[in-house]
Amino acid sequence: MTFLREYINNPSPVGFETSGQKIWLQYLKSFVDTTFTDPYGTAVGVINPDAPFKVVIEAHADEISWFVNYINAEGLIYLRRNGGVDHQIAPSQRVLIHGRKGAVKAVFGWPAIHTRGSKEKETQPKADNLFLDCGARNKKEVEDLGIHVGAVVTYQDGFEEIAYDHFVGRAFDNRIGGFMIAEVARLLKENKVKLPYGLYIVNAVQEEIGLRGAEMIARRIKPDIAIITDVTHDSTTPMISKISEGECICGGGPALAYAPAVHNKLLDIVIKVAEKNKIDLQMRALSRSTGTDTDSFAYSNDGCPSVLISIPLRYMHTTVEMLHKKDIEKTIELMYQTLLTLTPKTNLSYFN
Ligand SMILES: [Zn+2]
Repeated sequence: MTFLREYINNPSPVGFETSGQKIWLQYLKSFVDTTFTDPYGTAVGVINPDAPFKVVIEAHADEISWFVNYINAEGLIYLRRNGGVDHQIAPSQRVLIHGRKGAVKAVFGWPAIHTRGSKEKETQPKADNLFLDCGARNKKEVEDLGIHVGAVVTYQDGFEEIAYDHFVGRAFDNRIGGFMIAEVARLLKENKVKLPYGLYIVNAVQEEIGLRGAEMIARRIKPDIAIITDVTHDSTTPMISKISEGECICGGGPALAYAPAVHNKLLDIVIKVAEKNKIDLQMRALSRSTGTDTDSFAYSNDGCPSVLISIPLRYMHTTVEMLHKKDIEKTIELMYQTLLTLTPKTNLSYFN
């Protein structure tokens, strides 16, 4: 819990994930034989690094954020998205601007309800009308704080526990995945499991801008099997269509997906593991893209049998992403038990 709290509270914006990766590697390193990082900061812990057969368990380390794009004469700061950050939730949020002199506190200013004109014509927040106020009253004062074009901006909201075993946090998408794969490594170590293959525990960067970190590291590792974890939408809260999103609920257990990128035989193995260990599953259908690092691994190199294990989450890409503790535990267990089932001889051929 100490690690989870620290890891979630630490800013890890897309392209600037290093401080989070350091926290993660520090926690992971006693459970693995070796670690390495790649040029853009993807971090990997390895068990049995000399084994020719390679299995990956993967999550992504980056969180959505904003870039400083333009500082006006009055010292107000305009932004550009860094990942799919949500303009609708931005007004009145507190942020940190990560400038050259360290983090600077600022707020998303927004006109008062009294001053916004008639209700019908109310201005909606958009990327090009949202602005930050850091207390500076001209451009020079902004720059004197170390803030520059290209400085990255994250929300201040942190980790919280709320009733009935729910956690609330910023960017559980997908740092909860980083937590879960590290816990799988911890279980393997504590239970003295000897795996018949090399296990690569991968915390990839730059997922939120197009699955890029996974793309790079898949080529470097050349795995034989990849188990990807990410978050998926709880579709039982208001204003979400189950007709388009399918049905999935926090507390209902890990979600598995059918999709062309998801390897059918590997998926069947995971489903059987869940049945055997009495882990409730939720099923989803995805198509052209899973929208996750699964695609990057599946279509890497000569093709890599991949499977996606998702954890249901409410309010994705807001500062109050919500998870159920039981889903975290069950997703860890499902990954762990799946790893115990796999061997280099596991038959994943579609033809025999
Ligand atoms: Zn995301």
